[in-house]
Amino acid sequence: MRFVELAAFYERLEATTKRLEMRKILVELIDAVGREELAEVLYLSQGLLRPEYEGVELGMAESLATKAVAAATNAEEPAVVDRRQRSGDLGLTAAELITALPAAPERGALLARDVYATLTEIAHASGEGSQEVKVGLFADLLRRCTPAEAKFAVRFAIGTLRLGVRELTILDALTQKYGGGTKEARLRIEAAFNLSSDLGLVAETLAKDGLEGLTRIQLQVGRPIRPMLAERATSLADILERMEGEAALEYKYDGLRVQAHVPVDGPVKLFSRRLEDLSAQFPELVAALPEAISRKPAIVEGECVAIDADTDQIRPFQDISRRRGRKYDLERMQEEIPVCLYLFDVLLDDDVATVDEPFPDRRRRLVSLVRGGERVRVATQSIVKDVDAAQLFLDAAIAEGGEGVMAKSVATGSAYRAGARGFWWIKYKRDYTQRLGDSIDGVIVGAFHGRGRRGGRYGALLLAVYDAQNDRFESFTKVGSGFDDATLEEIPKRLASLELSERPKGVESGLEPDRWIQPRLVIEVRGAELTLSPIHRAGFEAIRPGAGLALRFPRFTGVWRDDKAATNATTSAELLTMYRSQVKHAEEPSDDSAS
Ligand code: AMP
Repeated sequence: MRFVELAAFYERLEATTKRLEMRKILVELIDAVGREELAEVLYLSQGLLRPEYEGVELGMAESLATKAVAAATNAEEPAVVDRRQRSGDLGLTAAELITALPAAPERGALLARDVYATLTEIAHASGEGSQEVKVGLFADLLRRCTPAEAKFAVRFAIGTLRLGVRELTILDALTQKYGGGTKEARLRIEAAFNLSSDLGLVAETLAKDGLEGLTRIQLQVGRPIRPMLAERATSLADILERMEGEAALEYKYDGLRVQAHVPVDGPVKLFSRRLEDLSAQFPELVAALPEAISRKPAIVEGECVAIDADTDQIRPFQDISRRRGRKYDLERMQEEIPVCLYLFDVLLDDDVATVDEPFPDRRRRLVSLVRGGERVRVATQSIVKDVDAAQLFLDAAIAEGGEGVMAKSVATGSAYRAGARGFWWIKYKRDYTQRLGDSIDGVIVGAFHGRGRRGGRYGALLLAVYDAQNDRFESFTKVGSGFDDATLEEIPKRLASLELSERPKGVESGLEPDRWIQPRLVIEVRGAELTLSPIHRAGFEAIRPGAGLALRFPRFTGVWRDDKAATNATTSAELLTMYRSQVKHAEEPSDDSAS
């Protein structure tokens, strides 16, 4: 196809916003394009050179494109900038400048394929001097463009080609052209796209072998599958009802979704929820996965969260978000913000696609596939059949740093529905958000050995509040954050004479520390909020059967309350009051594209 023809289609697409009209133009375009250039033309029309997940970028800032326009039209750069300021669009400016030039025979002879090839060459130019190379190549291209062609070429180069051609519209057009517009054809085409995330490949396959050819498109290591998405529910009872009385509940970890592709050999690839390549950002996961996954090739999915190196507790989302999109300081960040990948699904196991299997089967595979370790673990799950059990699981999920639960259908039809949102997965976050203004004075009742940097010392402390009514100490948190080096030195000295090998009478906790400590010392901590937890005993069962109060994301403020005796510490009753006064807010809508 000549590029002038393609530009004419672009003019028409640009002029409409109606989806049906767009589909019609796209069908005509597909008719007019040769089979071997269909994929390229479809990528170009979306402003891409390759499927989005490959992340191929042209790397041409507007200033570089301006240089190329000036060179190709014999204009001075400031004059181009000036005109661009008036037109508001460098594409239009290029078209105007070319119109003003004497007619040249070489303009209008370009093929779409030539343009694609040049743009690809520009994208691949890298290293020293590559900017000049890019400008040179692009200027040469523009010298052969008609005004209309130049307009679109420039917009493509600087990333402002917005024809409104979306994936859905292309899928519509392909269905029309190769499937007679039927619903069944649409589903098959969409399924192939969801498995491959590559519209060019789907179109090319259709052009070559029709609908039947699509069966050739299968899951492949290195090529991401479009993620399954969750619906939301109003209550745990609602979830159980929708799932016919039985659901697999999992912790809903608050981090970044990661789809990991683990080949037999060769590098592991990590993709984000939007299918961007995350491999470079999490080298420790890339390194750990081949060992952690026992059968390969495999594609597994999970949530990557930040972990406190000493306490092994999950850190808030803000921590992991500091690792996202980072290009520099990767080594330091690995030290500062260690991560762990909690796997929740397997899509390819030992080269067998598992997407059509019911979820319980996939979960069994996952459990037997993952060797586990420090970096890669399996998401905590429990099968529940009643609201009370679901509530306890939710409490535990939140107390351990999750943001709620993910309910998953265990029905026969619970296949992995790539790219689809449905009630097979239901997300449920706690129905309140709260800010804890006050600090809490906690009594040290236990200590945990440190790991890594804190090896050989204590890394975390078990804290309790005082229950004056029953004269006992009830645990409410395990704190490992906020200890500077001086504090870490000080802790064993202060604890030395108070260490016990057994739980002292009058201390209640569902946790077993490495050392029990006589309740004497009081320290001040702050946290994000108070939640319910089955493992802590503060205000046990005052709010809900089987649950006590727990402080989420605790941090030592640096203050030893030596002025306070253990019985002067914060009391269980005070903690309950604090819990009750936490404001109840409606669930805030979450941004689906955030992770
Ligand atoms: P949301 O981002 O609020 O729409 O919630 C859906 C996201 O929760 C998924 O895309 C995952 O990134 C994340 N998630 C955390 N834990 C799980 C889990 N156990 N199963 C599935 N998704 C999870």
